Amino acid sequence: MSFPSRYLRIPALAFSAFLAAIAFLLAPLVASAQAYVGNPKLIVIVVIDQFRGDYLNRDAAEFKGRGFNLFMKEGAWFTDCYYDYANTKTAPGHSTIGTGAYTDGHGIESNEWWDPARSYDHQVSSVEDERYELVDLPHDSIPANQPGAPSTAPKFVIGASPLNLRATTLGDELRLATQGRARVYGVSLKDRAAILPAGQAANGAFWIDPISGQFTTSTYYMQHLPDWAKTFNASGRIQQAERDANVDTATTEFYELVGRTPAANSYELDFTKALIEGEHLGQHGVTDLVVVSLSANDIQGHQFGPDSEFEEQMIVSLDHDLDNFFTWLDGSIGLKNVWLALTADHGIAPIPGDAAKLGVHGAVVNMDKVYDKLNAELNKRFSKAGEKQTYLLPNPDLPYVYLDQRAFKKAGVDEKTAEEAVAALLPEAVASQDSNPLPFIKDNPPTIVQPSGHRLDPGPRIQYVYTRLQLAGGQLPPSEWGTLLAHSYADHGNWFVMMILDAYQMAGVSPLAGTNHFTPWNYDRHVPLAFYGTPFKPGEYHQLVQPVDIAVTFASLAGVNRPSAAVGHVLVEALKPGINGEQ
Ligand SMILES: [Zn+2]
Repeated sequence: MSFPSRYLRIPALAFSAFLAAIAFLLAPLVASAQAYVGNPKLIVIVVIDQFRGDYLNRDAAEFKGRGFNLFMKEGAWFTDCYYDYANTKTAPGHSTIGTGAYTDGHGIESNEWWDPARSYDHQVSSVEDERYELVDLPHDSIPANQPGAPSTAPKFVIGASPLNLRATTLGDELRLATQGRARVYGVSLKDRAAILPAGQAANGAFWIDPISGQFTTSTYYMQHLPDWAKTFNASGRIQQAERDANVDTATTEFYELVGRTPAANSYELDFTKALIEGEHLGQHGVTDLVVVSLSANDIQGHQFGPDSEFEEQMIVSLDHDLDNFFTWLDGSIGLKNVWLALTADHGIAPIPGDAAKLGVHGAVVNMDKVYDKLNAELNKRFSKAGEKQTYLLPNPDLPYVYLDQRAFKKAGVDEKTAEEAVAALLPEAVASQDSNPLPFIKDNPPTIVQPSGHRLDPGPRIQYVYTRLQLAGGQLPPSEWGTLLAHSYADHGNWFVMMILDAYQMAGVSPLAGTNHFTPWNYDRHVPLAFYGTPFKPGEYHQLVQPVDIAVTFASLAGVNRPSAAVGHVLVEALKPGINGEQ
């Protein structure tokens, strides 16, 4: 932004008076920045990717030291924290934690979506931004579209930024309140989970190159990694993580193979220590902020489900790593100078076969078959004789089914007619899979059997369908359910239908292995919420709270504005009396 030209024509004398006036005007601003006394020195929000709210209770007997126990025994632990929207995915969840808003406030509806203004070749990710590049990648990981790429360049990768985030975060508000003196960072294995909770004005967000495991960032933040990050990448810590995970140190699949093991959590937390040390966080006389999102649990959880022994091992191991990290924080900055929060971006469903085995209506829907059926019906209804069109955009990212508006427009069909047609056809297209009942594993050694004893219809079933126009126009029931749906909507220029399967049903997995999260049902919305720090009254709290309460509670305690679109409540029930907990 430049000054309008009239300011440049001010005569010299008047100009010095102008400068004096500016200095006068700035004086109270500087003073007000100093009024933020830097209590605490550092806020750390720990996000566990895919961690259901009941896990802490389930595995409590195994926790040692001051890992999870720091929150559960010395902090304020909320057992009933539920997201109040249907978009239970990584990108919207992390955006909600940072902004204290839901999708209708922060604009992030999923991990990726079809954006007709940007591309019909692929779904754009929530953070991809073609104006930026990834920074300091190892040679073998430089993608084909960046300078210096090897001839065997792996794939087309572009930079990332919070371009789709339409609200400020707690970190942004700390930066604004201190005229940039507060320093704000995000860390994760995943780009979206590092970028979105940190915000637009963050000093940096770091995530890994999935091939090598090296930490990288985007030119949105900086042209090169800071020296401490380069040192970390070159320190042999990657190879140590590979050895800890029993993975070949020559692997080119760090994200997949190491990322799904407990070794990835200690790897990320060690990087976070290097960040706090390297950027001298907690030593600026203002409140700095780090959001660290631990991805390993999600990567392994999708494969093995919430009830596997791997999940238990991951949690017990993470408890140990958190104990180590908090002990380190105590020794470096002092826990009395730090406020901590623990939460997750979403929960998870059990593997559908496990749910079906117990008699719950678990089922798997094959979306390829659903799409074939829908396209056939839509062609019958809308295409000219002999003409065949593809009316749906590929790779549905449930709960959304995206329509190809080019095909409908070509057939002279408007959005309302198109979405209503798809919405009307979907229940039948899904239910017609009844003939393919869900098998499940029985006993050990496993035998695959048909659930002949299943007391319910074994097929998948749609519970609700909403068109984009219904969601955009607020044509929703005047109930808590209607509020939840309203919180789930953002406009990205696409046409879509929201499809909600019965609970414990899903697409994109085998009935026997693998699970997912994407629904408005409670198991996907239930996450832990706990705080530790001087303002908080230790205890176990059972009232219903939401992840949107984190950013506003911290904003209130730090004495800064709540983020621009925040809708949460300050959790006053867990606060000690007096300013910042001083009695
Ligand atoms: Zn996930």
